[in-house]
Amino acid sequence: MRIETERKLDFNDVLIRPKRSRLKSRGDVELSRTFKTPHAGVDITGVPIIAANMDTVGTLKMGAALAEHDMFTALHKHYPLDEMQKANISGAFSFVTFGIDDINKIDNVLNTLQSNSINKICLDVANGYTENFVDFIRDVRKHHPGKIIMAGNVATPDMTEALILAGADIVKVGIGPGSACMTRAMTGIGYPQLSAIIECADAAHGLSGLICADGGCRMPGDVAKAFAAGADFVMLGGMLAGHTECMSADELKEIKDSDDGLVEYYGMSSKVAMDKYAGGVAPHRASEGRVVKVEYKGDVKDTVQEILGGLRSACTYVGASKLKELSKRATFVVKSAA
Ligand code: 5GP
Repeated sequence: MRIETERKLDFNDVLIRPKRSRLKSRGDVELSRTFKTPHAGVDITGVPIIAANMDTVGTLKMGAALAEHDMFTALHKHYPLDEMQKANISGAFSFVTFGIDDINKIDNVLNTLQSNSINKICLDVANGYTENFVDFIRDVRKHHPGKIIMAGNVATPDMTEALILAGADIVKVGIGPGSACMTRAMTGIGYPQLSAIIECADAAHGLSGLICADGGCRMPGDVAKAFAAGADFVMLGGMLAGHTECMSADELKEIKDSDDGLVEYYGMSSKVAMDKYAGGVAPHRASEGRVVKVEYKGDVKDTVQEILGGLRSACTYVGASKLKELSKRATFVVKSAA
């Protein structure tokens, strides 16, 4: 046993110090970025916020709505292939998600969706630390050399490097910070998310790789802190949950007719999700996700405006004319204990 005593930080532990600036208006701030990918060799351009690959968030309708703002969506992995094929998916702004799957299935899905010009894959497992997962990334990379691969989740630099060396272009960072996550409570495992971002970004950038900070953002200021900490992309679940784009027309009607107007947002390892997709919680497992009730928030475009407005303002406060400059301009101050 070993104890690390250096203090690690969460979003709530810090604030970004304001700095003198030449910027005249937050309207001048450029949020779109272009990234080079270390393996796929193709660029990604857009506002680097990604809707989480959860069935209550990473929907086809969310994909269409966010693409209007040049933002990304990791489509959840439970869509029937023909439904995805029929939908007019934006290839530029969509990731197609897989767990550790049969490589032939992945080939088949990507071949079928070829007409949508999908070139981004999200390989998502709760625990990205297994050798099995690293081998799987290597295999997918070998079969799809030109596709952008985002893979995770991990929370430490060693494993960020391992996933990039195995073939990931973007590493998804976050173990336990999610708003519908029970991992820390059920297993005691986790890593404070702001420190995870800082340390994993440093590791990834050293190998010309990228990271996506996944989980724990509760408000626009947290998104700004994640970018300031060095995240290239930020993935959002709870902040994008509860919108019109998250549900079917029938579900929307039901919520509008209900007394409380609350919408269920549940973890993909929750009992609700496992009952829906895996025939229940397997006897050797425990649920590591919870069900959260969120208010119905209307169309996602209003929330997007708030998030992007907050981000532009954060950039203005530190004199960053581009999102790209935010982490270079940012100094965090650690708040004193309450
Ligand atoms: P949020 O933005 O809601 O704080 O976090 C979203 C992230 O939580 C997702 O992208 C995913 O990484 C994580 N997540 C989703 N469902 C579960 C779950 O059931 N258990 C755990 N441990 N994490 C989850």
